Amino acid sequence: MVRTVYVNGAFRPENEACVSVFDRGFLFADAVYEVTSVLSGRLVDFKAHMARLRRSLSELGLRKPASEDELLAIHRELVSRNDLDEGLVYMQVTRGAADRDFLFPPDDTPPGLVLFTQTSNLRVRPQAETGIRIVSIPDLRWQRRDIKTVQLLYPSMAKTEAKRRGADDAWLVEDGVVTEGTSNNAHIVNAEGTLVTRDLSHAILHGITRAAMLRLAEENDIPVELRSFSLEEAQAAREAFITSASAFVTPVVEIDGRPVGDGTPGPITRKLRQIYIAEAERTAI
Ligand code: PMP
Repeated sequence: MVRTVYVNGAFRPENEACVSVFDRGFLFADAVYEVTSVLSGRLVDFKAHMARLRRSLSELGLRKPASEDELLAIHRELVSRNDLDEGLVYMQVTRGAADRDFLFPPDDTPPGLVLFTQTSNLRVRPQAETGIRIVSIPDLRWQRRDIKTVQLLYPSMAKTEAKRRGADDAWLVEDGVVTEGTSNNAHIVNAEGTLVTRDLSHAILHGITRAAMLRLAEENDIPVELRSFSLEEAQAAREAFITSASAFVTPVVEIDGRPVGDGTPGPITRKLRQIYIAEAERTAI
């Protein structure tokens, strides 16, 4: 199926859409993005994604490509034109096209704005039932992972290396503790039944799914501790899981060849996935 995509003000068939060779997203990875999940044709946690986009833009001095209402309208139009029932909407915002120069272009350079959809089964997926196996890889990314930039080369290398080693994904490790997954946040449930997750900082992306999941954990009387954990602590944990807009809450059943708990998805992880999906369905717009 030929998708309709949105590029700099126009909806176009994907095979006719184009961006400039001089777009700084392409030349310098000078761009940020958001990924919003879609359930039953509605956008999950859209306001939170827009808040994070605003923050990413402001941290990098990037211009807002459109108002939040306009961005919502573009998302909705794209979902509708592509008849997207379940999947993801990607939105990329770049510093625009300008002669190649390390210096930022003049402030009045129009930002680039690209959106596209991807169909995906988010609610029912095998990995939610079986759990995933992960390996650890050193975190060699830059020091501002809180900004959702399109610099995805290292996560891409790490995920490819994980696959090469027969695993599903990688957790990134720095200074002896886990930062996050290649494209998700990392969490464990320890022997006391406490959900342990790294606190927010520049070291990790401030996951929208993480925030929603933590809210739901507290509402459901699951104790939460915000602190870093080591790989060894994760391997000895009762449960482990990841969160992201595409994985929702997905169990981790093996870390560097060692089973987590009994090697099957744990009850707290299963419960969190179930209540997360119910809440996402209920609040999507
Ligand atoms: N960390 C990283 C590095 C990511 O790329 C992502 C997904 N974009 C996440 C965490 C999860 O964020 P969210 O829940 O907002 O999808």
